[in-house]
This record gives sequence, structure tokens and C-alpha cells, in this order.
Amino acid sequence: MKRVGAHVSTGGGVENAPLHAAAIGAKAFALFTKNQRQWRAPKLTTSSIDAFQKNCSDGGFKPGHILPHDSYLINLGSPDPEKLMRAREAFIEEMQRVEELGLLLLNFHPGSHLKEIGEEQCLQLIAESINMALNVTKGVTAVIENTAGQGTNMGNRFEQLAFLVDRIEDKTRVGICLDTCHLFASGYDLQTTEAAEFTFSEFDRIVGLSYLRGMHLNDAIQPLGSRVDRHASIGKGKIGMAVFSYIMNNPACEEMPLILETPDSDAWSSEISLLYSLGR
Ligand SMILES: [Zn+2]
Ligand SMILES: [Zn+2]
Repeated sequence: MKRVGAHVSTGGGVENAPLHAAAIGAKAFALFTKNQRQWRAPKLTTSSIDAFQKNCSDGGFKPGHILPHDSYLINLGSPDPEKLMRAREAFIEEMQRVEELGLLLLNFHPGSHLKEIGEEQCLQLIAESINMALNVTKGVTAVIENTAGQGTNMGNRFEQLAFLVDRIEDKTRVGICLDTCHLFASGYDLQTTEAAEFTFSEFDRIVGLSYLRGMHLNDAIQPLGSRVDRHASIGKGKIGMAVFSYIMNNPACEEMPLILETPDSDAWSSEISLLYSLGR
């Protein structure tokens, strides 16, 4: 089964996320397990964790259908040693929260070199950061997201994702989340079925489809190769519908979170229905 959902709000507590997801007809969801714009967060309470798990099971969401996203403040490739240490600590805390919730995946953007170190040096730091977090946690897979290549963000090219995956010691706990808007912004064409097939085959050749753990389904406001990260609602941007039809009929995308991060949350339930209508 295809598992389409959205990045839902946790207003009132993480336990509300599965309720919000069920209300829009989602079969998967993404969430922040803490305020994504702050470093510190109160510990998850037992009652909140229990309610979260009950609401997930009531809504039919299994741990593998849920894709927590880490804080935007974390730069695992920071050139500043003090900031790097803080980011690593915060990332470990995020992984521990995912563990406490009984979940399996943590989605994050690799990091940025901020023009202070080289790209390869930055990627090395990111790989080290991921290994450190995996060493002190259990069961949670580090799910690296491809980026739009905006500014000095790493992870927009498949070669960079492969560089990271190659350096992760525990290959069973590293995965990739592909964001369609980010692919398109970084120059991977998705505008026709043939283009989508080629982009996926390139990903398979360079990284490996077996590492795919989830996708972000977003259209893009800017044209191919813009390197600008601006999401559009499905069918309302420059990508068009071909790739979404391709994904909804691709066996490689079964039973993984396919998450909308589109700007109009009121449209999510109709976007979800639209995506399901593309499946043959
Ligand atoms: Zn994304
Ligand atoms: Zn984005």
C-alpha cells in the first residue's frame, strides 16, 4: 500500500499529530517532536508518549509510516567546533526522543559549510556526526534528506548523499528521504515519466534505491535547477503531475512515508485524495 500523508502540527502535544493526520485521510505523517526553532525542549512525559502510541495504533499508523523531522537549528557539518558540538548533542537528543516514542526514523538535512570549510570536509563532519549519534542510540535510522542546494547546504547531489552513506558504519541504520521539490530545484528533471524514471535510475545507480526510506512530495515554485527551496501545492508548480503518478505506481515506494510539505494545509486532504487517484 502507498502511505501518503503530510507534515502535521503537534499543537497541544505530540500525541495530537496522529489525530491531525487521521483527520485529513493520511496513511502516514511527519512531525517535529519538539519546537523546531528552539534548542531546548521539555522531556516527553510518559502520558504523552502513551497517548501518542495509542493514537497511532487507533489511526493505523505503524512506526515505519511516521517520519519525525529534526530541528532546523542543527548543522551537523558546522565549521565552528562549538556550534558543531551543540548540534551533535541536539541531534542525539532528537534521536532519543524518536526512540522514546517507539519510532524508527529521523529525517534531517545534512548540513552547511557556510563557505568556511570545503565541501568534502563538511561532508566528513556530517558523516562523523551521524556515526556518533548512531553509536549512542538504538533502533533509529538516520534518514538523510536531499536538499535543494540553496546557499551552502550540502546534500543536493546524489554523489554527496552516496559519500555520506559510504561513511556510515552501520549501513542498516542509514537511509535517504528524497524531496521532489529539492530534486527539481537541484537540477534533476521530473517533468515527464521518462525524466522521473531517469532521475530514479540515477539515484539507484549512485546511492541505491534500497536506502530509500521515505519521500517528501512537493511541487516547486521555481524552475528546474533554480536551487531555490520553495514548495508549491501538488499540481500548482513547475514540476507537473508525471512524477507523482510515477511515484504512486512505483513498487519501490510501498509502505514508506510519502509526506506532503506543501504550503496550504487546508488543501492536504484533497492533495492526498488526488495522489491516491493516480495509483493504478
Ligand atoms: Zn522536505
Ligand atoms: Zn524544502
